[in-house]
Amino acid sequence: MPTQPTPSADLLELFSSIQGEGLLVGYRQVFMRFPGCNLACEYCDTDFSSSPSCSVENEPGSKQFSTLPNPLSLDGVMTLIQTWISGFPAAHHSLSITGGEPLLHAQTLQQWLPHLRTKLPIYLETNGTLPDQLELIIANTDWVAMDIKLHSLSGERTDWEIHRRFLEIADRTQCFVKVVVGETTPDLELQLAGDLVSSVSERIPIILQPVTRQARVAVSTRRLLHMQAIISESHKNTRVIPQTHRFMELL
Ligand code: SF4
Repeated sequence: MPTQPTPSADLLELFSSIQGEGLLVGYRQVFMRFPGCNLACEYCDTDFSSSPSCSVENEPGSKQFSTLPNPLSLDGVMTLIQTWISGFPAAHHSLSITGGEPLLHAQTLQQWLPHLRTKLPIYLETNGTLPDQLELIIANTDWVAMDIKLHSLSGERTDWEIHRRFLEIADRTQCFVKVVVGETTPDLELQLAGDLVSSVSERIPIILQPVTRQARVAVSTRRLLHMQAIISESHKNTRVIPQTHRFMELL
């Protein structure tokens, strides 16, 4: 039977930095950023539009970049990551697959992840809206960082049933849920998020992430304490963790 050639893929960025959000905050990761997103959140600060080239950090942590023409081959990406791992043994905790929404590239990931996972554990950052695509790659994913985008902040409709299906699949591996909150996030949305995660598993942590503006947390402490108390009524396993890479001027 003929074997399928491993597809090349368009990437936006490959670089090394410290994870600034969520449960793995503070760990060093290699970041692989894919183009495209299926949502259009009002607060989105990520340029995920396709590009004819990928920005690749010259040396891990240097913040100096060169460009490589898209699409990139799996072999080329594997060689680069191996070079970084050899030069900085044990520095990196995992490989962050991010976007945009990386699950738009699930068929590529289905073929790439078994190879990439031989280099580093796989950490998927996702908006949690594409459960069928997650199903394709969950067996080769070590961590799922799933966002719930609340309608009041994102402007996008929150599809709770899709999120439930997604989280049930994500729960087969290590996972947590991240919820970005603002000063006026309604209690009802927090209760729905807490109820949803609790109904899948009380073990899954929820991270409330306050909006950051100009490198400052843009939500008052009083509101954060209130929101954590509200969501904890249905899901005790809830923490407040701001974005840290903004304060540290990390990539
Ligand atoms: S899901 Fe993420 S990348 Fe997509 S529009 Fe929303 S914030 Fe931006």
